[in-house]
Amino acid sequence: MNIVFLGPPGSGKGTYASRIAPQLGIPHISTGDLLREAVAKKTPLGKKAESYMKKGALVPDDIIMQIVKERLGKKDARPGFIFDGFPRTIEQADSLERIRRVEIVINLKIPDFVIIQKILARRTCEKCGEIYNIAHIKFGKVNMPPVSPKKLGICDKCGGKLVSRSDETEQIIKDRLDVYRKQTQPLIDYYTKKKLLRNVDVIGSPEVMVPIIMAEIKKSKK
Ligand code: ADP
Ligand code: ZN
Repeated sequence: MNIVFLGPPGSGKGTYASRIAPQLGIPHISTGDLLREAVAKKTPLGKKAESYMKKGALVPDDIIMQIVKERLGKKDARPGFIFDGFPRTIEQADSLERIRRVEIVINLKIPDFVIIQKILARRTCEKCGEIYNIAHIKFGKVNMPPVSPKKLGICDKCGGKLVSRSDETEQIIKDRLDVYRKQTQPLIDYYTKKKLLRNVDVIGSPEVMVPIIMAEIKKSKK
């Protein structure tokens, strides 16, 4: 199946995609990850992309399409893919349509205030990068239990100290969400017109969300 995931930063999109893709026997493809890899390896494309990424700007469509085409050319992507972070523009969506036909677009919906609470409550292990979350978000049908360490402030895996990322202030998160909504709205309209969009409310932990998203994908398979 050819699948696209849309969802704001902090919605858990990458986590869901990485768990669902192996169940479907297809790769989870994140253009952010592909770009960071290209930058780290200092490939010609990576060198071109780096300055845009540093500014937080979108990397030009032609560079993105080159890395996407290359990735889709690999054998594991023959039966399908889950894209995460791509397409980001109508031009990218149109170019993708010319190479592979998208069959379903999962649009993860989650209110901004929940994302802000979640991101601010995130704690990362200084040593090994393991992520925890100290907030318990509960309202209406939403129930997101915390992912707590056994000992307060200490990583279960390695005993390292848990810290919050200082770059993630409320204002920065809000700005990022605004940019996301502005960029993504045209794509939501685009895929709605093609009758491919499926809205999924984020109401719980990945354990709860993965089966819900899987069911939505299976419904569209027939
Ligand atoms: P985020 O946007 O949440 O920081 P990503 O990992 O999705 O995380 O992307 C990191 C950066 O890579 C973006 O800020 C952008 O510069 C670039 N990028 C990733 N995917 C695309 C895309 N489809 N089109 C343009 N730029 C992209
Ligand atoms: Zn650790």
